[in-house]
Amino acid sequence: MRTHRIHRPKYTTMADGTDAVLTIHELVGESDGPTVGISGSIHGNENAGSQIIRELWPVLRDSELAGRILLLPVANPRAFAVNKRYTPVDELNLNRQFPGSTTGWYSDHLAAAITHEFLERIDIHIDLHAGTDRPTVDYVYIMNDEPLSRAFGSLILYRPQMGISGTTYSGTTKSVTVDRRGISSVVVELGGGIIAQQSYVDRGVDGVMNILRTAGVVAGEPSEMHRQIVVRGIEIVRPSQGGWLETTAPPLGELVGDKQELGRVVSPYTFETLEVIHSPLSSGIMILSHLNRNLVEPGDYGYMVGDMSTAELEP
Ligand SMILES: [Zn+2]
Repeated sequence: MRTHRIHRPKYTTMADGTDAVLTIHELVGESDGPTVGISGSIHGNENAGSQIIRELWPVLRDSELAGRILLLPVANPRAFAVNKRYTPVDELNLNRQFPGSTTGWYSDHLAAAITHEFLERIDIHIDLHAGTDRPTVDYVYIMNDEPLSRAFGSLILYRPQMGISGTTYSGTTKSVTVDRRGISSVVVELGGGIIAQQSYVDRGVDGVMNILRTAGVVAGEPSEMHRQIVVRGIEIVRPSQGGWLETTAPPLGELVGDKQELGRVVSPYTFETLEVIHSPLSSGIMILSHLNRNLVEPGDYGYMVGDMSTAELEP
């Protein structure tokens, strides 16, 4: 890396008188190449991505770069500070407000600032999501650049068949094949849970560095990929009762059989089993789970199971 600057563009003033700013690191390489943007904590309670960026920084600082890298380590600082998915000021999901606007809610202002100061200045976007401090997750979306998504190195990849409007990827369109500006997007879901995060942070650093090698920003041959599984369908399984969620499902990345039990909701008060949760699929693979006895509300993320009947065969 040749130069490093921190940009703190102000986009509005908060009611407490403080400036609302983005914090963006700009790393300029020794030679020309693409600009890669890496963001974390768009959802404020998914801080594994911010941890990955924090540990990427010294690695990138000591690397020779072809191109530029913009780091947005904490995309939603107000939500990050209070460990919430939604922005506390307006209770909106920042990742449904893109491309944002300066005539809307606070989260629209924040989205507009990220669009203008970050997304519109990059050629490749790596958006790091995670489980929260409850569930743990492990997969990568295939949006519009399959080689870069594969290069992160996760076992399971997900090719969505339907878009979600207002994400960093889609902006205002629901298209899943064409994003708003034609930049390559890699959306990573990795880590989370009340467990040690270091193995996930290490994998995140390795995965981003391998994407940067694949994109030619960092020198060196990309790693050979192990077998990867691409699914086109994921089922989100939500508990219908609140209480302790006690998991019996196999570990992440392992297969689950026909209607196999995934876990039970047990009352912390009476100790009775309130619900037995089963996989809704005849053949699945674990993508999100609770690795500890976690307290859940009805409707929380319980499990995510990849639908193996939609799995693509290896070419
Ligand atoms: Zn997220």
